[in-house]
Amino acid sequence: MTTTDLPLLVLGRGTDPASERGVDCPGSLPAASDPDLVARARAAKEALGSRLFVLGHHYQRDEVIQFADVTGDSFKLARDAAARPDAEYIVFCGVHFMAESADILTGPDQKVILPDLAAGCSMADMARIAQVEDAWDAMVEAGIADSVVPVTYMNSSADIKAFCGRNGGAVCTSSNAQVALEWAFAQKPDAKVLFLPDQHLGRNTAVLQMGYSLDDCVVWDPHKQNGGLTAEELRDAKMILWRGHCSVHGRFSAEVVDELRAKIPDVQVLVHPECKHEVVTKADLVGSTEFIIKTIEAAPAGSSWAIGTELNLVQRLADAHPDKNIVFLDRTVCYCSTMNRIDLPHLVWALENLVAGTVVNQIQVDPETEKWALVALQRMLDLPARTAAKD
Ligand code: SF4
Repeated sequence: MTTTDLPLLVLGRGTDPASERGVDCPGSLPAASDPDLVARARAAKEALGSRLFVLGHHYQRDEVIQFADVTGDSFKLARDAAARPDAEYIVFCGVHFMAESADILTGPDQKVILPDLAAGCSMADMARIAQVEDAWDAMVEAGIADSVVPVTYMNSSADIKAFCGRNGGAVCTSSNAQVALEWAFAQKPDAKVLFLPDQHLGRNTAVLQMGYSLDDCVVWDPHKQNGGLTAEELRDAKMILWRGHCSVHGRFSAEVVDELRAKIPDVQVLVHPECKHEVVTKADLVGSTEFIIKTIEAAPAGSSWAIGTELNLVQRLADAHPDKNIVFLDRTVCYCSTMNRIDLPHLVWALENLVAGTVVNQIQVDPETEKWALVALQRMLDLPARTAAKD
C-alpha cells in the first residue's frame, strides 16, 4: 500500500532505492522476452473475470492497451471506474495521479492497482503540496489570498486536488478548463485564479479562449523566493500560473509547425492545449486527447494532419486511419517515459498476483485528502457541460 506522495525521480539517476519503486516487484517480474506473456495476461484476466476491470490510458503501449476493458483520457477512465462498483480490482494502466483519482471516485471496498509504482507524471510532480502551501502563505501576506480561487488540472496529485477543495477551488480537465475558469472568476469580486500545475493549459485557456492578455498572466516559480514575483505583480495579475509543464507536450515547437506546413501544404495542425502558447497559436485545432481522436475519426480520406500529442496515440491513430496522412509534430521520437513504465511484464505480474490472492501496488488515498479532493472534483462535475476547442 502506498501513500499519496510519490515524487518522480529521473529514471536511472541517483542511488536512492525509493527512486525506482515498482522495479522491485515482490515475487518475480516476468522476463520481457517471455514468449508466453500475452497468453499469461489473457489467462489471468479470464481467471479474474468480472472481479477485474482494466483501464488503459490513450498514451499506453499497444502491448498493454490490448488488455484494457476501456480506453480513454484520465477523467473518462476515472468515471468509467466509478461506473463499475461490482469490480473488486481496478487495474489502472496509466500513471499515479490517475490511479489516485480512480481510488477517490470508487467505493471503499474496491482496490485500485498501478502495475508499476514508478509510473508517475513529471507535470504532477512539479507542484508539491508543501510548495503550494508556501505560495498560498505568500499570497496571504500580499493581501490577495481572499480573492484567489485555486483551480488544478486533473493531472495533479490528490493532495493538490484536496488543497483546491479546502480553499474554495475546483479541478478541471483539458476539455472543460474554460468553463472551470469562468466558474472560478465568478466566485468572488475581483477574483484571481491560481492555476496548477500546467502553466500552458492555464495560459492558453485564459488568453486564447477567454480574451485575457498575456500581461494578465504571471508565472509563480516555486524554486524562487516569493515565486519570483513582487506583491504588486501578484496584485495586478488575473491568472497566477504555476510553473509546471508536461515534458512530452512541452517539446513541440513553432519551428516544426512552420517546417511541416512548408513540406505538406494542406496539412492541418492539431495539438493538445498542454503545448506551449506559441505552438497553440500556430495550430488549426486545439483540444483534449478525446477531441483529437474524434477529429481524426471525422476527417475526410486523403486529409493531412500533424498531431502534437503523445506518440503512442499518434501512432495508433495513423495505424487506424491509413486513408489519412498523419504525421507526428516533432522531429524525434517522444513517448511519455512514465506512461511507458507500464509494460506487459508488469501487467502480467500484477494480474497473476491478484489471481493468487495478493494485492500488489495498491494506490490508496488517505480519507482526509480524499474528502477534500472529492469536494474539488464534485465542483468540476457540477459545472455546466460544455467542451471547448479552438477551431
Ligand atoms: S504525457 Fe505529460 S502530463 Fe501525461 S503523464 Fe506524461 S508527463 Fe504527465
